[in-house]
Amino acid sequence: MGTTQKYIFVTGGVLSGVGKGITAASIGAILQAKGVKVSIQKCDPYLNVDAGLLNPKEHGECFVTKDGAETDLDLGHYERFLDLELTQKNATLSGKLLSQLIADERAGKFHGQTIQLVPHLTGAIQDAIELAADGSEVHIVEIGGTVGDYEGLSYVEAIREFASRVGRENCMYVHVVYVPFIQTSKEFKSKPAQNALNDLRGFGIVPDCVVVRTDDPAPGNIADKIAAFSGVRNDAVILLSNAKTVYEIPLTIDASGINAVLERFTSNTKKADLSKWRALADAQEATYEQTVRIGMVAKYLDNEDTYISVLEALKAAAWQEKVGLELVWINAEEAEAADFETMDGLVVPGGFGSRGIEGKIRAATYALDEKKPYLGLCLGLQIAVIAAARKAGLKEANSTEFDPDTKQNVVYIMEGQAGKESTGGTLRLGDYTAELKPGSKTALAYGTKETIERHRHRYEVNQAFLEDIEKGGLTISGKSPDGKLVEYIEAANNPFFVATQAHPEFKSRPYRAHPLFVGLIKAAAGK
Ligand code: GLN
Repeated sequence: MGTTQKYIFVTGGVLSGVGKGITAASIGAILQAKGVKVSIQKCDPYLNVDAGLLNPKEHGECFVTKDGAETDLDLGHYERFLDLELTQKNATLSGKLLSQLIADERAGKFHGQTIQLVPHLTGAIQDAIELAADGSEVHIVEIGGTVGDYEGLSYVEAIREFASRVGRENCMYVHVVYVPFIQTSKEFKSKPAQNALNDLRGFGIVPDCVVVRTDDPAPGNIADKIAAFSGVRNDAVILLSNAKTVYEIPLTIDASGINAVLERFTSNTKKADLSKWRALADAQEATYEQTVRIGMVAKYLDNEDTYISVLEALKAAAWQEKVGLELVWINAEEAEAADFETMDGLVVPGGFGSRGIEGKIRAATYALDEKKPYLGLCLGLQIAVIAAARKAGLKEANSTEFDPDTKQNVVYIMEGQAGKESTGGTLRLGDYTAELKPGSKTALAYGTKETIERHRHRYEVNQAFLEDIEKGGLTISGKSPDGKLVEYIEAANNPFFVATQAHPEFKSRPYRAHPLFVGLIKAAAGK
């Protein structure tokens, strides 16, 4: 007889973007540290089918799962906090559910029924939740946006109904609210949070726990006030101010009343072993003898969330190597040699479209010429190949993504991909295996013969130009098992110049840095 499946629903009030995802992931991390098997899912009320076509400037990074789901960046937090590899079923969007419902209606599967948001969409949401919970003891479900948003109503109704489906005692509702500090009167204002709790109650959900987000630490009377107005127990109101690193948050939440709440809910009385998180918080606080300056040559400079997995992977590698990390944003549209000179290493991250391309090519050329450590991620590999080909004398070398008419198409569109540009779900997505060249720097960094990394791209290196690419200073250090696709390249005369067609950042963990990021940081530190 298995234990009863439990569900934790995390909703938000007042504002979105105050750390609901990190809160959900941190509660998961605490449960895991008590020996509980946890799973997690994000429900996004958008009408998009997935996050693949969303603007990264607005929504931040598109995170890719091993089975190729293009998801919200919160799935990245979940994977980093819970050390899980998530799949399609962990990312639920209205567009995905609605298109299936409509397809079923057209296929005559409803036998004359009227198809409605309630009960059909709410039912589909509940089915998706049960499906994603499969095999865990506690399944955490984060609902995107804030309660009361028009498009999210079906989700709020679905999670309310869910308590009837599985029993209220098997559901725990956590509401994350924001309490602002008013500078002029120097006081925290709990009114918007109280209203947000009223809204949630209006939809029939009385939360079991309220997480109160503030910028600076709030006094205890804020928790008392919120408890009094919301009918939530005092020990279940958790004050959570901004942290130096998100990895401190499991520690902060664990030190709050959450354990009493979780104990009542799961009957698990074990103390969470959070040594992993303490070590990360210490690493963040530590002062290091050496600091490396890493130049990130990128085009979205006003929203760090766009490159969040890359940043987290760099931090993890620096922590592991016990060096400080100074990240310098270099605007790809204006980048010149002088910007690269003072860096210990350069990163060219993934990207789409031609804006900033020439500056990124200048960065790769500089790294090749001056033996500067370089890590190329997806687009960063294509950029390096273009730079090498131009160095070898192919002045028009380009990717057909940026110059569709170039004859020197050293990066070109994959077979079967032409005509699909800008469409959803058609990139080369998810896990692919690569075979590494024995003895190459890439193989040495990984310490393996084969790799499995996540992909998200459309264009490929054109091996017809191999001689030129080699003449320009690069060798191929990894290919797809059939040899048709270039997966890794490297430069011989450089402490660490490695680029991959994949996105290794998605598999980095804060407590287990990815070998390629470690390679870059080590070389940048002169190790
Ligand atoms: N735009 C390039 C491609 O489609 C690179 C994509 C990426 O960096 N993720 O192949």
